[in-house]
Amino acid sequence: MTAQRKAVLDVLHRWHDHPTADEVFLRVRKLLPKVSLATVYRNLDVLAEQDEIQVIEFPGQPRRYDAVTRPHYHIVCVECGRVEDIHLDRVPDLGALVQRTGAYEVLATRLEFEGRCSRCRAR
Ligand SMILES: [Zn+2]
Ligand SMILES: [Zn+2]
Repeated sequence: MTAQRKAVLDVLHRWHDHPTADEVFLRVRKLLPKVSLATVYRNLDVLAEQDEIQVIEFPGQPRRYDAVTRPHYHIVCVECGRVEDIHLDRVPDLGALVQRTGAYEVLATRLEFEGRCSRCRAR
């Protein structure tokens, strides 16, 4: 593993706030001042392909990254854009339930939540 890739992974393990690629870049640059944004993007792609990190995509938002790869749910604040984990037991396998209706082979299921975070509600 290259120093750049390790730094990207370290940043994602240290900050569990689901940063965007730009945010990862700013943090990696503090560790490796010469790193380029393109290098950070490439390493994020490779780490995601290797299932070392998870990619989180909410419609209309930049992709975010998470070093926690076990399945868990996310909620996005519609006001400030913060993405947080939801600590919840997994709900039943909705994909399997849909597949049982017979019309489709289900390839993926996405379940995401939107809300207002405690900081935005306090304003
Ligand atoms: Zn908020
Ligand atoms: Zn997460």
